[in-house]
Amino acid sequence: MIECDLERIEGGWRCKREGCPLVHYSDEKPLTRCLTDPGNPFSPNYVKPSRGLGDTVAKMIKKFGLAPKKPCKPCEQRRAWLNNLVPYDTTPPQS
Ligand SMILES: [Zn+2]
Repeated sequence: MIECDLERIEGGWRCKREGCPLVHYSDEKPLTRCLTDPGNPFSPNYVKPSRGLGDTVAKMIKKFGLAPKKPCKPCEQRRAWLNNLVPYDTTPPQS
């Protein structure tokens, strides 16, 4: 996790990192997850972890600009089918 590199501004705190617009108005220094952290769901760089091959394929198609504006039913079905066929183990081990 990347924390914000905060500097004091009038009335609050601001992140010094480039690409992070975070400004926090409080006297106490906040502990904030930086928006430049690709693991931060609020970050514009956030990459959702793939659940399976279907997600990877969908990402590739999107990357090359081949995806239709709206995901169509066959696309979603293929995605789900591939995810089931080749699932990535993203679930934490059960105890
Ligand atoms: Zn930041």
